Formats: sequence, structure tokens, C-alpha cells
Amino acid sequence: MRKPFLKDKHFYIIAGLFIVCTIFYYFGELVNLFGWDALRREIFYTVHDPHRMLFLVPILYSGYYFRLRGAILANILALIIMLPGAFIISDFPDAILRIPLFILVALAVSILTAIIFNERDRVRRSFNALKRSEEKYRSILDQLYDSYYEVDLDGNFTLANNSVCQSLGYTREELIEKNYRLMVPEDAKRSLLLAFNEVYRTSEPNKGFEHKVICKDGSTLSVESSISLRKNELGEIVGFRSVSRDITERKQGEQALRDSEERYRSLVENINDVFYTMDNEGNITYVSPVVEKLSKYKVSDLIGQSFISLIHPDDLPGLTDSFNRLVSGQLEPWEFRIFDKDGTIIYVRTSSRPIYKDGEVVGLTALITDITERKQMELKLEQMATHDFLTGLPNRVLLTDRFTMAAALACRNKTRLAVMSLDLDKFKSINDTLGHAAGDQVLKTISSRLRGIIRSSDTAARVGGDEFVLIMMETNHREDATAIAQRILDSFREPLLIDGHNIIVSTSIGVANYPEDAQDLDTLIKKSDAAMYYSKGHGRNQFKFFSDGDVHLGGDHKSGTDRQNQP
Ligand code: GH3
Ligand code: MG
Repeated sequence: MRKPFLKDKHFYIIAGLFIVCTIFYYFGELVNLFGWDALRREIFYTVHDPHRMLFLVPILYSGYYFRLRGAILANILALIIMLPGAFIISDFPDAILRIPLFILVALAVSILTAIIFNERDRVRRSFNALKRSEEKYRSILDQLYDSYYEVDLDGNFTLANNSVCQSLGYTREELIEKNYRLMVPEDAKRSLLLAFNEVYRTSEPNKGFEHKVICKDGSTLSVESSISLRKNELGEIVGFRSVSRDITERKQGEQALRDSEERYRSLVENINDVFYTMDNEGNITYVSPVVEKLSKYKVSDLIGQSFISLIHPDDLPGLTDSFNRLVSGQLEPWEFRIFDKDGTIIYVRTSSRPIYKDGEVVGLTALITDITERKQMELKLEQMATHDFLTGLPNRVLLTDRFTMAAALACRNKTRLAVMSLDLDKFKSINDTLGHAAGDQVLKTISSRLRGIIRSSDTAARVGGDEFVLIMMETNHREDATAIAQRILDSFREPLLIDGHNIIVSTSIGVANYPEDAQDLDTLIKKSDAAMYYSKGHGRNQFKFFSDGDVHLGGDHKSGTDRQNQP
């Protein structure tokens, strides 16, 4: 900002110059007036009108220093000073015309001076503004965390911010005019060159370009760069500008992550168990390839599929409970059945963990182990423990179990049960005449006939060599049990074809009722046995109810010791 006039020394210099000019001017005019020819010749007329021309000095000074305003004021002042002088001189009116002419010329020259210097000021101001803005941007660039650099078309650095220097380890002076290729590893040079070429060709910036750079100390950094064109004021391409970010740590974190992922993947893919994840809807989101061996499904068939569709429908209710327990933190394993692609049942055991996101369960991860072999063995052992090996009928153990359930049901529904004892008549003679194997065959055939006669809720068990016990449900009336006993006797009339021989076997039957005769199985069997002995003792091939009254415990054809000899 300019100082006030009165405090500016140039104002006093110009005022002084005006005073000198005024004195010189009026002295010149007086010389003219008095015709001091010698003086005029010597001092004033060597140059044309020097006494007036001298005013150009303060006028131009004022125009230069105080610009347009100064030029105009100085010219007005000069005119005011000079006009009275014009009336003094002898060659009026010629002189009086010369003064405005002089002032016009002076005004033109001084305005031109003011304009020239004004323009110079403007250029200077804009130059300074540019410099300030460049400094501002440079300081912003230097504070940037990201690296910013500019290269010319040959790839030489023309600008680099602090971050470039810090990350590469060069000073700015070392970097400027060096070629960027020096900082790029051999294997990345070509791809970076292609990236620059692409930007040059299409004028489109290249964003997110990842490559490596070599630092001054020889270490390598991973960077992500965006490259764009740099143009001059005429729109001509003069180079490239680039913003780069050091992603070495991120890359290392990614490489480490990939390694660990690879390790887990190889672990998951090489174990015999199937690893899978599913979302809350029960859709499979990942399953390890070993599932193809287990289920004959391809991995691609299963991804996105509902896991529930593979599960045996009978096991689904239990699984829902297990899933709810899992979510509440009880992580016990579950066993259930799934179907493979061919519909074969596979027994599996799974241990699961819920997957949490923001505190919410969003699915589960699980390991599935194929336990079919173990399960089949268990089922076989269970079958052996509860069934008769020869005929496949339930044995005494299962009979007891079935009776407990049947009795509880009968008690609740206030219904009756019939317990029947069967002993084949003269079975020994078959063994004796046709051999033991034929006897076995007879036992098997009779067992399957008995199975065909009873209802699915009833039980037929083999409890001894040629002895069977049947539990018949809902035999509320004597006629119900009578009908079944009669049907059994009738079925025995049909000859059995054994080893090409038609054999007729008969049986003797005794019946006891729950709850009248007894409420426990042992007593009921004792009573039905007693009734059966009665049948044997009275001609065989018939049935007898314990409740008929003639039957006495332990008093008939076969004794208890006979029974203990049975297998
Ligand atoms: P009864 O009419 O008095 O019952 O005469 P029985 O010949 O049937 O005599 P009993 O019931 O006392 O004997 C049954 C026989 O069954 C005794 C035994 O030799 C035979 N036996 C026992 N277990 C088996 C077996 O698993 N297979 C075969 N083939 N025979 C058996
Ligand atoms: Mg017998």
C-alpha cells in the first residue's frame, strides 16, 4: 500500500523539482522579455525552449512514481505554473499556444509512462501472486502423506514432494532431473512404461496401478499410483503427474494373509472330515472338496444349496434343537443321517461353531465325520444284543423292553394285553429224523409265519429252542386273543417244505392276560407257560387261557427244569 502523500519523500522531491523548474522557467521568460541576447544564446536557446522542457522531469517523475493520478496532477500543476509566464513574454500569442501544446505532449508522455509502469506493476503483482500460490501448493504437497511427483515426457523428474524424497531416501536435488526408470525394478519397468503410454495415448488417467519401486538404499517398496497427463498453457502434453501411495505394509499383510489362508485351505482340504460353512438360512456357503467322496455330490452342486435338504427327515427335529443349543453356547457334537447323491444313508457326526458378526449369529462352521461304519457296527451289536441270531425275531431282552412300553400304554389307555407262550410239538423228532439244519430251517419258517400273523404293534420273540412268546396289544376281549391263537394254529396246518420234504408241525399255546393274571412279565410268562403246558398235556396243537381255572402253575406236562435245558 502507498504511503500518504505528505509522508512520501518522492512527493517532496517532485515538489522541489517543480520549484527549480518554476524558477528556471520564469528566469527564462524574463531573459526573453528583456532581450538579454547573450544569455539567451548561451543558456536558453542552445536547446529549443529548455526552460519549458525542464518541466518534463517532475511530470515524468510524478507519472512514474504516482502513476496516472500523479501524471495528471503534475501536468495541471505545470500548466498553472507556466500560463502566467506566457503573458510576460513578448511574442504573444505564439507563446501562449505553445504552453498547452507542450502540456499535451507532456501529458501524453507522462500517461504513457504511468501506463507502462502500471502494467509492469500488474505483471509483478501477478508474478508474486503466482509465486505465493506455488509456494502454497508446494507446502501443501510437501505436507501430503502421499507421494506426488511430475516427470517430463522422457521420464525425468521435474517436481517431487517431500513424501517422494522421504520414501525413496533421496534429497530433492538428487531426484530432480533423474529418470524414474532408475527407481523401478527390471520386471516392473515394462508394465510401468505401458501404463504411461496408455495415459499418453488415451489422455485418460490410470488409477490404482500397483508396482514396485527401488529406494536409494536398495530396498523395495510396493506402491499404488495414479498417473495423469501434464499439459502446458497451450494444451500441449509436457509430461505426467502421479500420486503414489506406499502399500508395502498392506501388501505384506495381504501376502501373510494369503499364506495363512493357503495353510488353512490345505489343512481343510486334506483332512478326511468335511469342513463346511452355512448361513442362517441353512444354505451352504463353503464346503471342502472331500465332500465329493462322502456324498458323491460335486462341490459346485452343493454351494448355495440348503443343507437341510440332505438330512434324513427323521433327524431334522433333533437338529433344530441342537442348533438352538449351539447358538446358546452349548457346543456338543450332533449325530444324524444324510443322503448321498444315490440316496444311500450316511451316518455323520458334526461339531459346529457359530459364526458371529457384530454380536449376531450369521451362520455356522462345522466339521462332518463319516461314522457310517461305526454306526453300522453299533446297530449290528444292538441287533445282536436284542434279537435272536437264527430267526431275527426279538429276544428276551427286547421282549422285556417292548412289554414295558406296551404295559405302560395299556395302563394309560385302560386296555388289556395278551401274553402267549408257544412251544412246538415234538420238535426233537424233526432234528432227529431230518437233521439239525432242517430243524433250524423249520424254526426260521415258523418265525416268519408268526411275523406275518401279528400286527406291527405286537411282538413275537424267540425265547428258547422251540419256544416263542408273543405280546398282543389291545386284546380287550377273550375273543381277540382267541382269534389270534386260532389263526396261529391254522397257519401251522400248512405244510413246510424243508429239503424237499413236506413237514407238518404243530404248536401248543398258553395265554395269560395283563393286567388280570399279572402285571409283570415274568409272572405273566409263568402263567402263559403253565397254560401252554396244560395244552401239551391235553393232546397238543391247541391253546389254553390261564384264567380258565384248570391250569396250575408248575403242575403240567413240562417241568421248569426242562426249560432250563433250552438254549
Ligand atoms: P414237546 O412237544 O414236548 O415240546 O416235545 P419236543 O420234542 O419239542 O421237546 P422240547 O420242546 O422239550 O425240545 C425242544 C428241542 O429243540 C430240544 C432241542 O434239541 C431242539 N433245539 C433247541 N434249540 C434248537 C435250535 O436252535 N435248532 C434246532 N434245530 N433245534 C433246537
Ligand atoms: Mg417242544
